[in-house]
Amino acid sequence: MLNEKVSGLCNDQINKEFYSAYLYLDMAVYYADQGLDGFANWYRIQAQEERDHAMLFLQYLENNGVRVTLDAIAKPDKVFACHRDPLTMAYEHEQYVTSLIHTIYDAAQECKDYRTMQFLDWFVKEQGEEEKNADDMVKKYDLYGSDPKGLYSLNSELAGRAYSAPSLVLD
Ligand code: MG
Repeated sequence: MLNEKVSGLCNDQINKEFYSAYLYLDMAVYYADQGLDGFANWYRIQAQEERDHAMLFLQYLENNGVRVTLDAIAKPDKVFACHRDPLTMAYEHEQYVTSLIHTIYDAAQECKDYRTMQFLDWFVKEQGEEEKNADDMVKKYDLYGSDPKGLYSLNSELAGRAYSAPSLVLD
């Protein structure tokens, strides 16, 4: 039986992860409209990863006998004024998601919920990777994005990103 506060935060996280998916899908839509199909591909795959994260939280709660409550997903309301905007916003967003994961971890630690702490360990590591990827995107764009040929090459590189399922699998 999970602690009520911990299970409540995990339930909230399902919604936050679906919102992340929505946010990245909105970025993909923006880049597709701008003719940057590689950037669009990158964020479509990012959206898929966020849906996977949501489903992992959902599965974890179900496995622990918690009745999940699905809430409305907020509308993505970011306004992108230039090609760089989604990249910096994505980096800020990942830092925010890291703080959410850490808050759940703190709650689990407080009530000695070792099972949830172990489940969250994967997400702690994953957030390290997400933040690095997002930061790398900003750095790459700043190095190459201002030149049309550089932007073309970067777009081609991002077109090569392929989806892979999360390494965490819950039975
Ligand atoms: Mg996520």
